[in-house]
Amino acid sequence: MVTMEHLRSVADPPDGPPPEGCVTMVLRNDCEAEAVVVYLAGHRSRRAVHVMLCGEDVGYVRRDRVYELFPELSKRLGDAVRGSSPLDPALSAYRWMELRCPEPQCAEAPVLSMHFDEDHPLRCRRHPGQQLRLDP
Ligand SMILES: [Zn+2]
Repeated sequence: MVTMEHLRSVADPPDGPPPEGCVTMVLRNDCEAEAVVVYLAGHRSRRAVHVMLCGEDVGYVRRDRVYELFPELSKRLGDAVRGSSPLDPALSAYRWMELRCPEPQCAEAPVLSMHFDEDHPLRCRRHPGQQLRLDP
């Protein structure tokens, strides 16, 4: 079981520069911590993600640090990515939506979330007046 405490224990502080090719993952509750690990396992080219939890900036979580925490998990997830593993359901259980700022040329990384609530939209960190939209 992956918890937010696990992610916090390996996260780099959010005040540093973002790792290259980083995406921001917005979580609504602690239970979604596992989805971050599953995402990293399923997207091998993604070396780090920026984790936000209910508006709190948790920091940057790098794949290699996650694998330090869960050597067994990473092995099993590796099998899952190749197919036919008991973890296949875990990989397909999480559906991330990609959200973007409507501002042209916005440098903010794409934001991934499992929820899109039109009544409570997420806002761009660089353009607080802009609401993030589903990437068509
Ligand atoms: Zn923006």
